[in-house]
Amino acid sequence: MTSAPRLDRARRRMREVGVDVLAVSAGPDLVYLTGYEAMPLERLTMLVLARDGDAVLLVPRLEVPRVDEDTPGFTVEAWDETDDPIERIAKHAGGARVLALGDHVFARDVLALQGSLPDARFVLASHVTSPLRIVKDEAELGALRDAATAVDEIAQDMRGWSFRGRTERAIHRQLIEQILDRGHERANFAIVATGPNAASPHHEPGDRRIEAGDVVLCDFGGTMHGYCSDITRMYAVGDPRAEVRDAYDALLVAQEAAVRAATVGTRCSDVDAVARDSLHDAGLAARFVHRTGHGIGLEAHEDPYLVEGNDRPLEAGHAFSIEPGVYLPGRFGLRLEDIVIATPAGPQRLNHAPRDLAVVD
Ligand code: ZN
Ligand code: ZN
Ligand code: ZN
Repeated sequence: MTSAPRLDRARRRMREVGVDVLAVSAGPDLVYLTGYEAMPLERLTMLVLARDGDAVLLVPRLEVPRVDEDTPGFTVEAWDETDDPIERIAKHAGGARVLALGDHVFARDVLALQGSLPDARFVLASHVTSPLRIVKDEAELGALRDAATAVDEIAQDMRGWSFRGRTERAIHRQLIEQILDRGHERANFAIVATGPNAASPHHEPGDRRIEAGDVVLCDFGGTMHGYCSDITRMYAVGDPRAEVRDAYDALLVAQEAAVRAATVGTRCSDVDAVARDSLHDAGLAARFVHRTGHGIGLEAHEDPYLVEGNDRPLEAGHAFSIEPGVYLPGRFGLRLEDIVIATPAGPQRLNHAPRDLAVVD
């Protein structure tokens, strides 16, 4: 990835929204703008991008070898252990009336910068970066597609795994291993929620042993070539009870309807409403306790959020999850999740693993 065009797009956006200087620390905005994945250390790494001037990446001296030597669009400046990096940032940002500061900057650095730049107004960097990052280019879509294919293969494979008698933690460990074995550089999460535990959408895998009649919710993903995967599939241990099968059928219909609704120009809130209305028809709307989806890219959760109140229309190149769920406390929980991209030809799923309720041993 070449950083210079992205830095120029950021400058154009800064002009539009009246930002003089953009300053981002370790995290996805920095990766997006420079290609550099800084360690999230207590030592400050910060890109300072002037709208009408240069871009400087301030890096702790010991991290300099990790930065590419070829850095088109910005210069690298090292700070030594006895330097005050805040002072250096303030010097580069001096005179800024409006400074957009990274959403992930540590509070202690935010407060120190505010102290050093008393005349500047601070806004969030995402005002500048989110509109850029939200529309994925071909290379980004390719990375998302590869990551999706890898988790699809795992979800498909799992239909042959044995679940009965094993703990959530054991399945979780096997999933993490698979996520890495299939080419992700990082495993981000692997929710394994069995029986009544699945009624908690983000259940932490524990020691519960899987028994006949359980339904198992598996929601997992990692990062491949910098971009995230995220999929949820359901596995029934032995033939599922009628109430589970009925709820799952309703969920399948709701997910399909929401995916079809995710066309260019449709508001995020309307996609959410389609999933909700569909579950309402099955008497399950009150059991769907979270938003329909989230954007995905360098981060597992990013803009756009498919949620009531977000009236932003979908654009070509938006990538997001569609993941309605149904949660019955004390009994069971179900969720079905695919990553979808909005294209001029209609919504395109990146996940293709079978969506029926898998019956496993
Ligand atoms: Zn989630
Ligand atoms: Zn997920
Ligand atoms: Zn998700």
